[in-house]
Amino acid sequence: APTSFDYDLVIIGAGVGGHGAALHAVEKGMEEVLIRSMQGLKTAIIEGDVIGGTCVNRGCVPSKALLAVSGRMRELQNDHHLKALGLQVSAAGYDRQGVADHANNLASKIRNNLTNSLKSLGVDILTGVGTILGPQKVKYGQVGFSDNVVTAKDIIIATGSVPFVPKGIEVDGKTVITSDHALKLEFVPEWIAIVGSGYIGLEFSDVYTALGSEVTFIEALDQLMPGFDPEIGKLAQRVLIHPRKIDFHTGVFASKITPAKDGKPVTIEMIDAKTKEPKDTLEVDAALIATGRAPFTKGLGLENINVVTQRGFVPVDERMQVIDGDGKMVPHLYCIGDANGKMMLAHAASAQGISVVEQVSGKDHVLNHLSIPAACFTHPEISMVGLTEPQARDKAEKEGFEISIAKASFKANTKALAENEGEGLAKLIYRPDNGEILGVHIFGLHAADLIHEASNAIALGTRIQDIKFAVHAHPTLSEILDELFKSAKRRSAVEG
Ligand code: FAD
Repeated sequence: APTSFDYDLVIIGAGVGGHGAALHAVEKGMEEVLIRSMQGLKTAIIEGDVIGGTCVNRGCVPSKALLAVSGRMRELQNDHHLKALGLQVSAAGYDRQGVADHANNLASKIRNNLTNSLKSLGVDILTGVGTILGPQKVKYGQVGFSDNVVTAKDIIIATGSVPFVPKGIEVDGKTVITSDHALKLEFVPEWIAIVGSGYIGLEFSDVYTALGSEVTFIEALDQLMPGFDPEIGKLAQRVLIHPRKIDFHTGVFASKITPAKDGKPVTIEMIDAKTKEPKDTLEVDAALIATGRAPFTKGLGLENINVVTQRGFVPVDERMQVIDGDGKMVPHLYCIGDANGKMMLAHAASAQGISVVEQVSGKDHVLNHLSIPAACFTHPEISMVGLTEPQARDKAEKEGFEISIAKASFKANTKALAENEGEGLAKLIYRPDNGEILGVHIFGLHAADLIHEASNAIALGTRIQDIKFAVHAHPTLSEILDELFKSAKRRSAVEG
C-alpha cells in the first residue's frame, strides 16, 4: 500500500450517499479549520454517469414531483371532499408532457444544486467508472480514454442500485417498464399491472390512478404492502386501494411477462407463489416491474481485494467497514447506501456516509438504524420508524419484556378535521416498564413529515416520561404525536 496519498478520501459513486459523505468531509474540514486551524479532508468523488445517482435522477426526486401532481389531481377530482369545504371546481384535467416536464425539471434543478455544492466546496469530481485496483488504490476512466489511477487514505464505495427484474420478465422500456422508464411518463396506460406492492409500486399506483389508469397489483406474498406494520397496512389498504380503480392478486408470482407487440397487449402469466401451479393470465396495456432493487457493483473490482458479495450486496460491519471473503475487515475501505443493503433509502445512504467520515476523521461513530424513518408518499402518506408490532413482539418475547401500544386517530385532531382529512392513525409501540420507544407508525395527512419527532426521540434515547410536558402548537397535526406520547405515559407504570 502507498504511504503518501493523492487524496484523504475517494468516494466511488456520486449518488446521495456519496454526495453526503463528500460534503461532510469538506465541511468537516472547514469546521476543523475554524476550531483548530486544520486543513479539511482532501476529497474526490468518482462518477460514471450524472451527479445525483438514483435519488435525484431516477428515484425520490422525480417520483415526488409526480406525486405532487397526483395529490393535487386527487383533490380536484374528489367532489365529495371539495363540497365539504364549500368549494366548486370544474372538471380537472392534465397535460401529460407538462407533468413529465415538471418531474424532469425538478431533477435537473436538484442535480445542478448538488454539482455546484460539490464544486464550490472543493470536492474534485473525477469522471468515469471507478475500479478498485488494490488497497487504497482506484482507477477511473471513460470508454475510449486512458485510465487514471489515484491513491487515497480511505475509500468509500457508494455505487447504489438498479431495478431488480425477476427471471422470465422481458423489459422493453415501453410497455413493460421499470421505475426508470415510468418516471419519464412517456404514456399513461389505460390499464397497468404493477408487479410488487412495496413503496415504489404503491407510489406509482397513486400517480397512475390519479392520471386515469386502472391498476392491478401482482404481489407474491399473501397481503399487499408486506413491509409495513400490518395494522397500518390494513388501514392503508382500505383507504388507498379499495376506493380507487385498483384490484390485486396476492400470493402469485408473475412468472412470464411479454411486452405488447404487433397489436397484441402485454401478457402476464402468473403462478401460485407456494405451489408454483399455473394461475391466471392477464392481458394489460402495460406492466411496471416494482420488485425491488439490486445492488450495483459491476466493474468495481471487488475481486482485486478479495471481497465477495452476498446476494449482490457488499458485506459491511456496523461501522460500514467492508468485510472480505475470509470474514476480515478490509482496512480503509467502507461501503454505504444501497450497495450494502442495510437500509435502501436516500437519507440512510447519506447518514451512513456522514458516519463514515466521522470515523475516518478519528471519531468513533455507530449509526442507529432503528432511528432512521421511512416514508411512502401516497395520498395520504405512510411513515414509520423503529420496529413494527410483530417485530417488537418477537423481540419482547426473546428478551423477556412486555410491550404496550398507544394509538391516536386523525379523526380526533382539529387540524386534520379542518382539512377534511380525518382518515388516519398513529401508533406507538413502547415498553410500559421503562418508557422506551420501540416503534412509531403513521398513516394520514403529512405522515412523512410527522414522523421526525418520533425518530429524533429514538435517536436521542428519549423515553415517554421525558416528553410528557412537551408542548405542541394548536391546532397542528403534530398534536397527534403529543396525544400518542401522553396516552402512552398515562397507561404506563414509569415514574417521572
Ligand atoms: P445511488 O443514488 O444509486 O447512486 C450511485 C451512483 O454511483 C450512481 O450515480 C452511479 O452512476 C454511480 N456508480 C455506480 N458504479 C460506479 C462506478 N464503478 N464508478 C463510478 N460511479 C459509479 N429513497 C428515499 O429515501 N425516499 C424516497 O422518496 C425514495 N423514492 C424512491 C423512488 C424510486 C422510484 C426509487 C427507484 C428509489 C427511491 N428511493 C427513495 C431510494 C433512493 O433513491 C436510494 O436509496 C438512494 O438513491 C441510494 O443512494 P446511493 O448513494 O446508495 O446510490
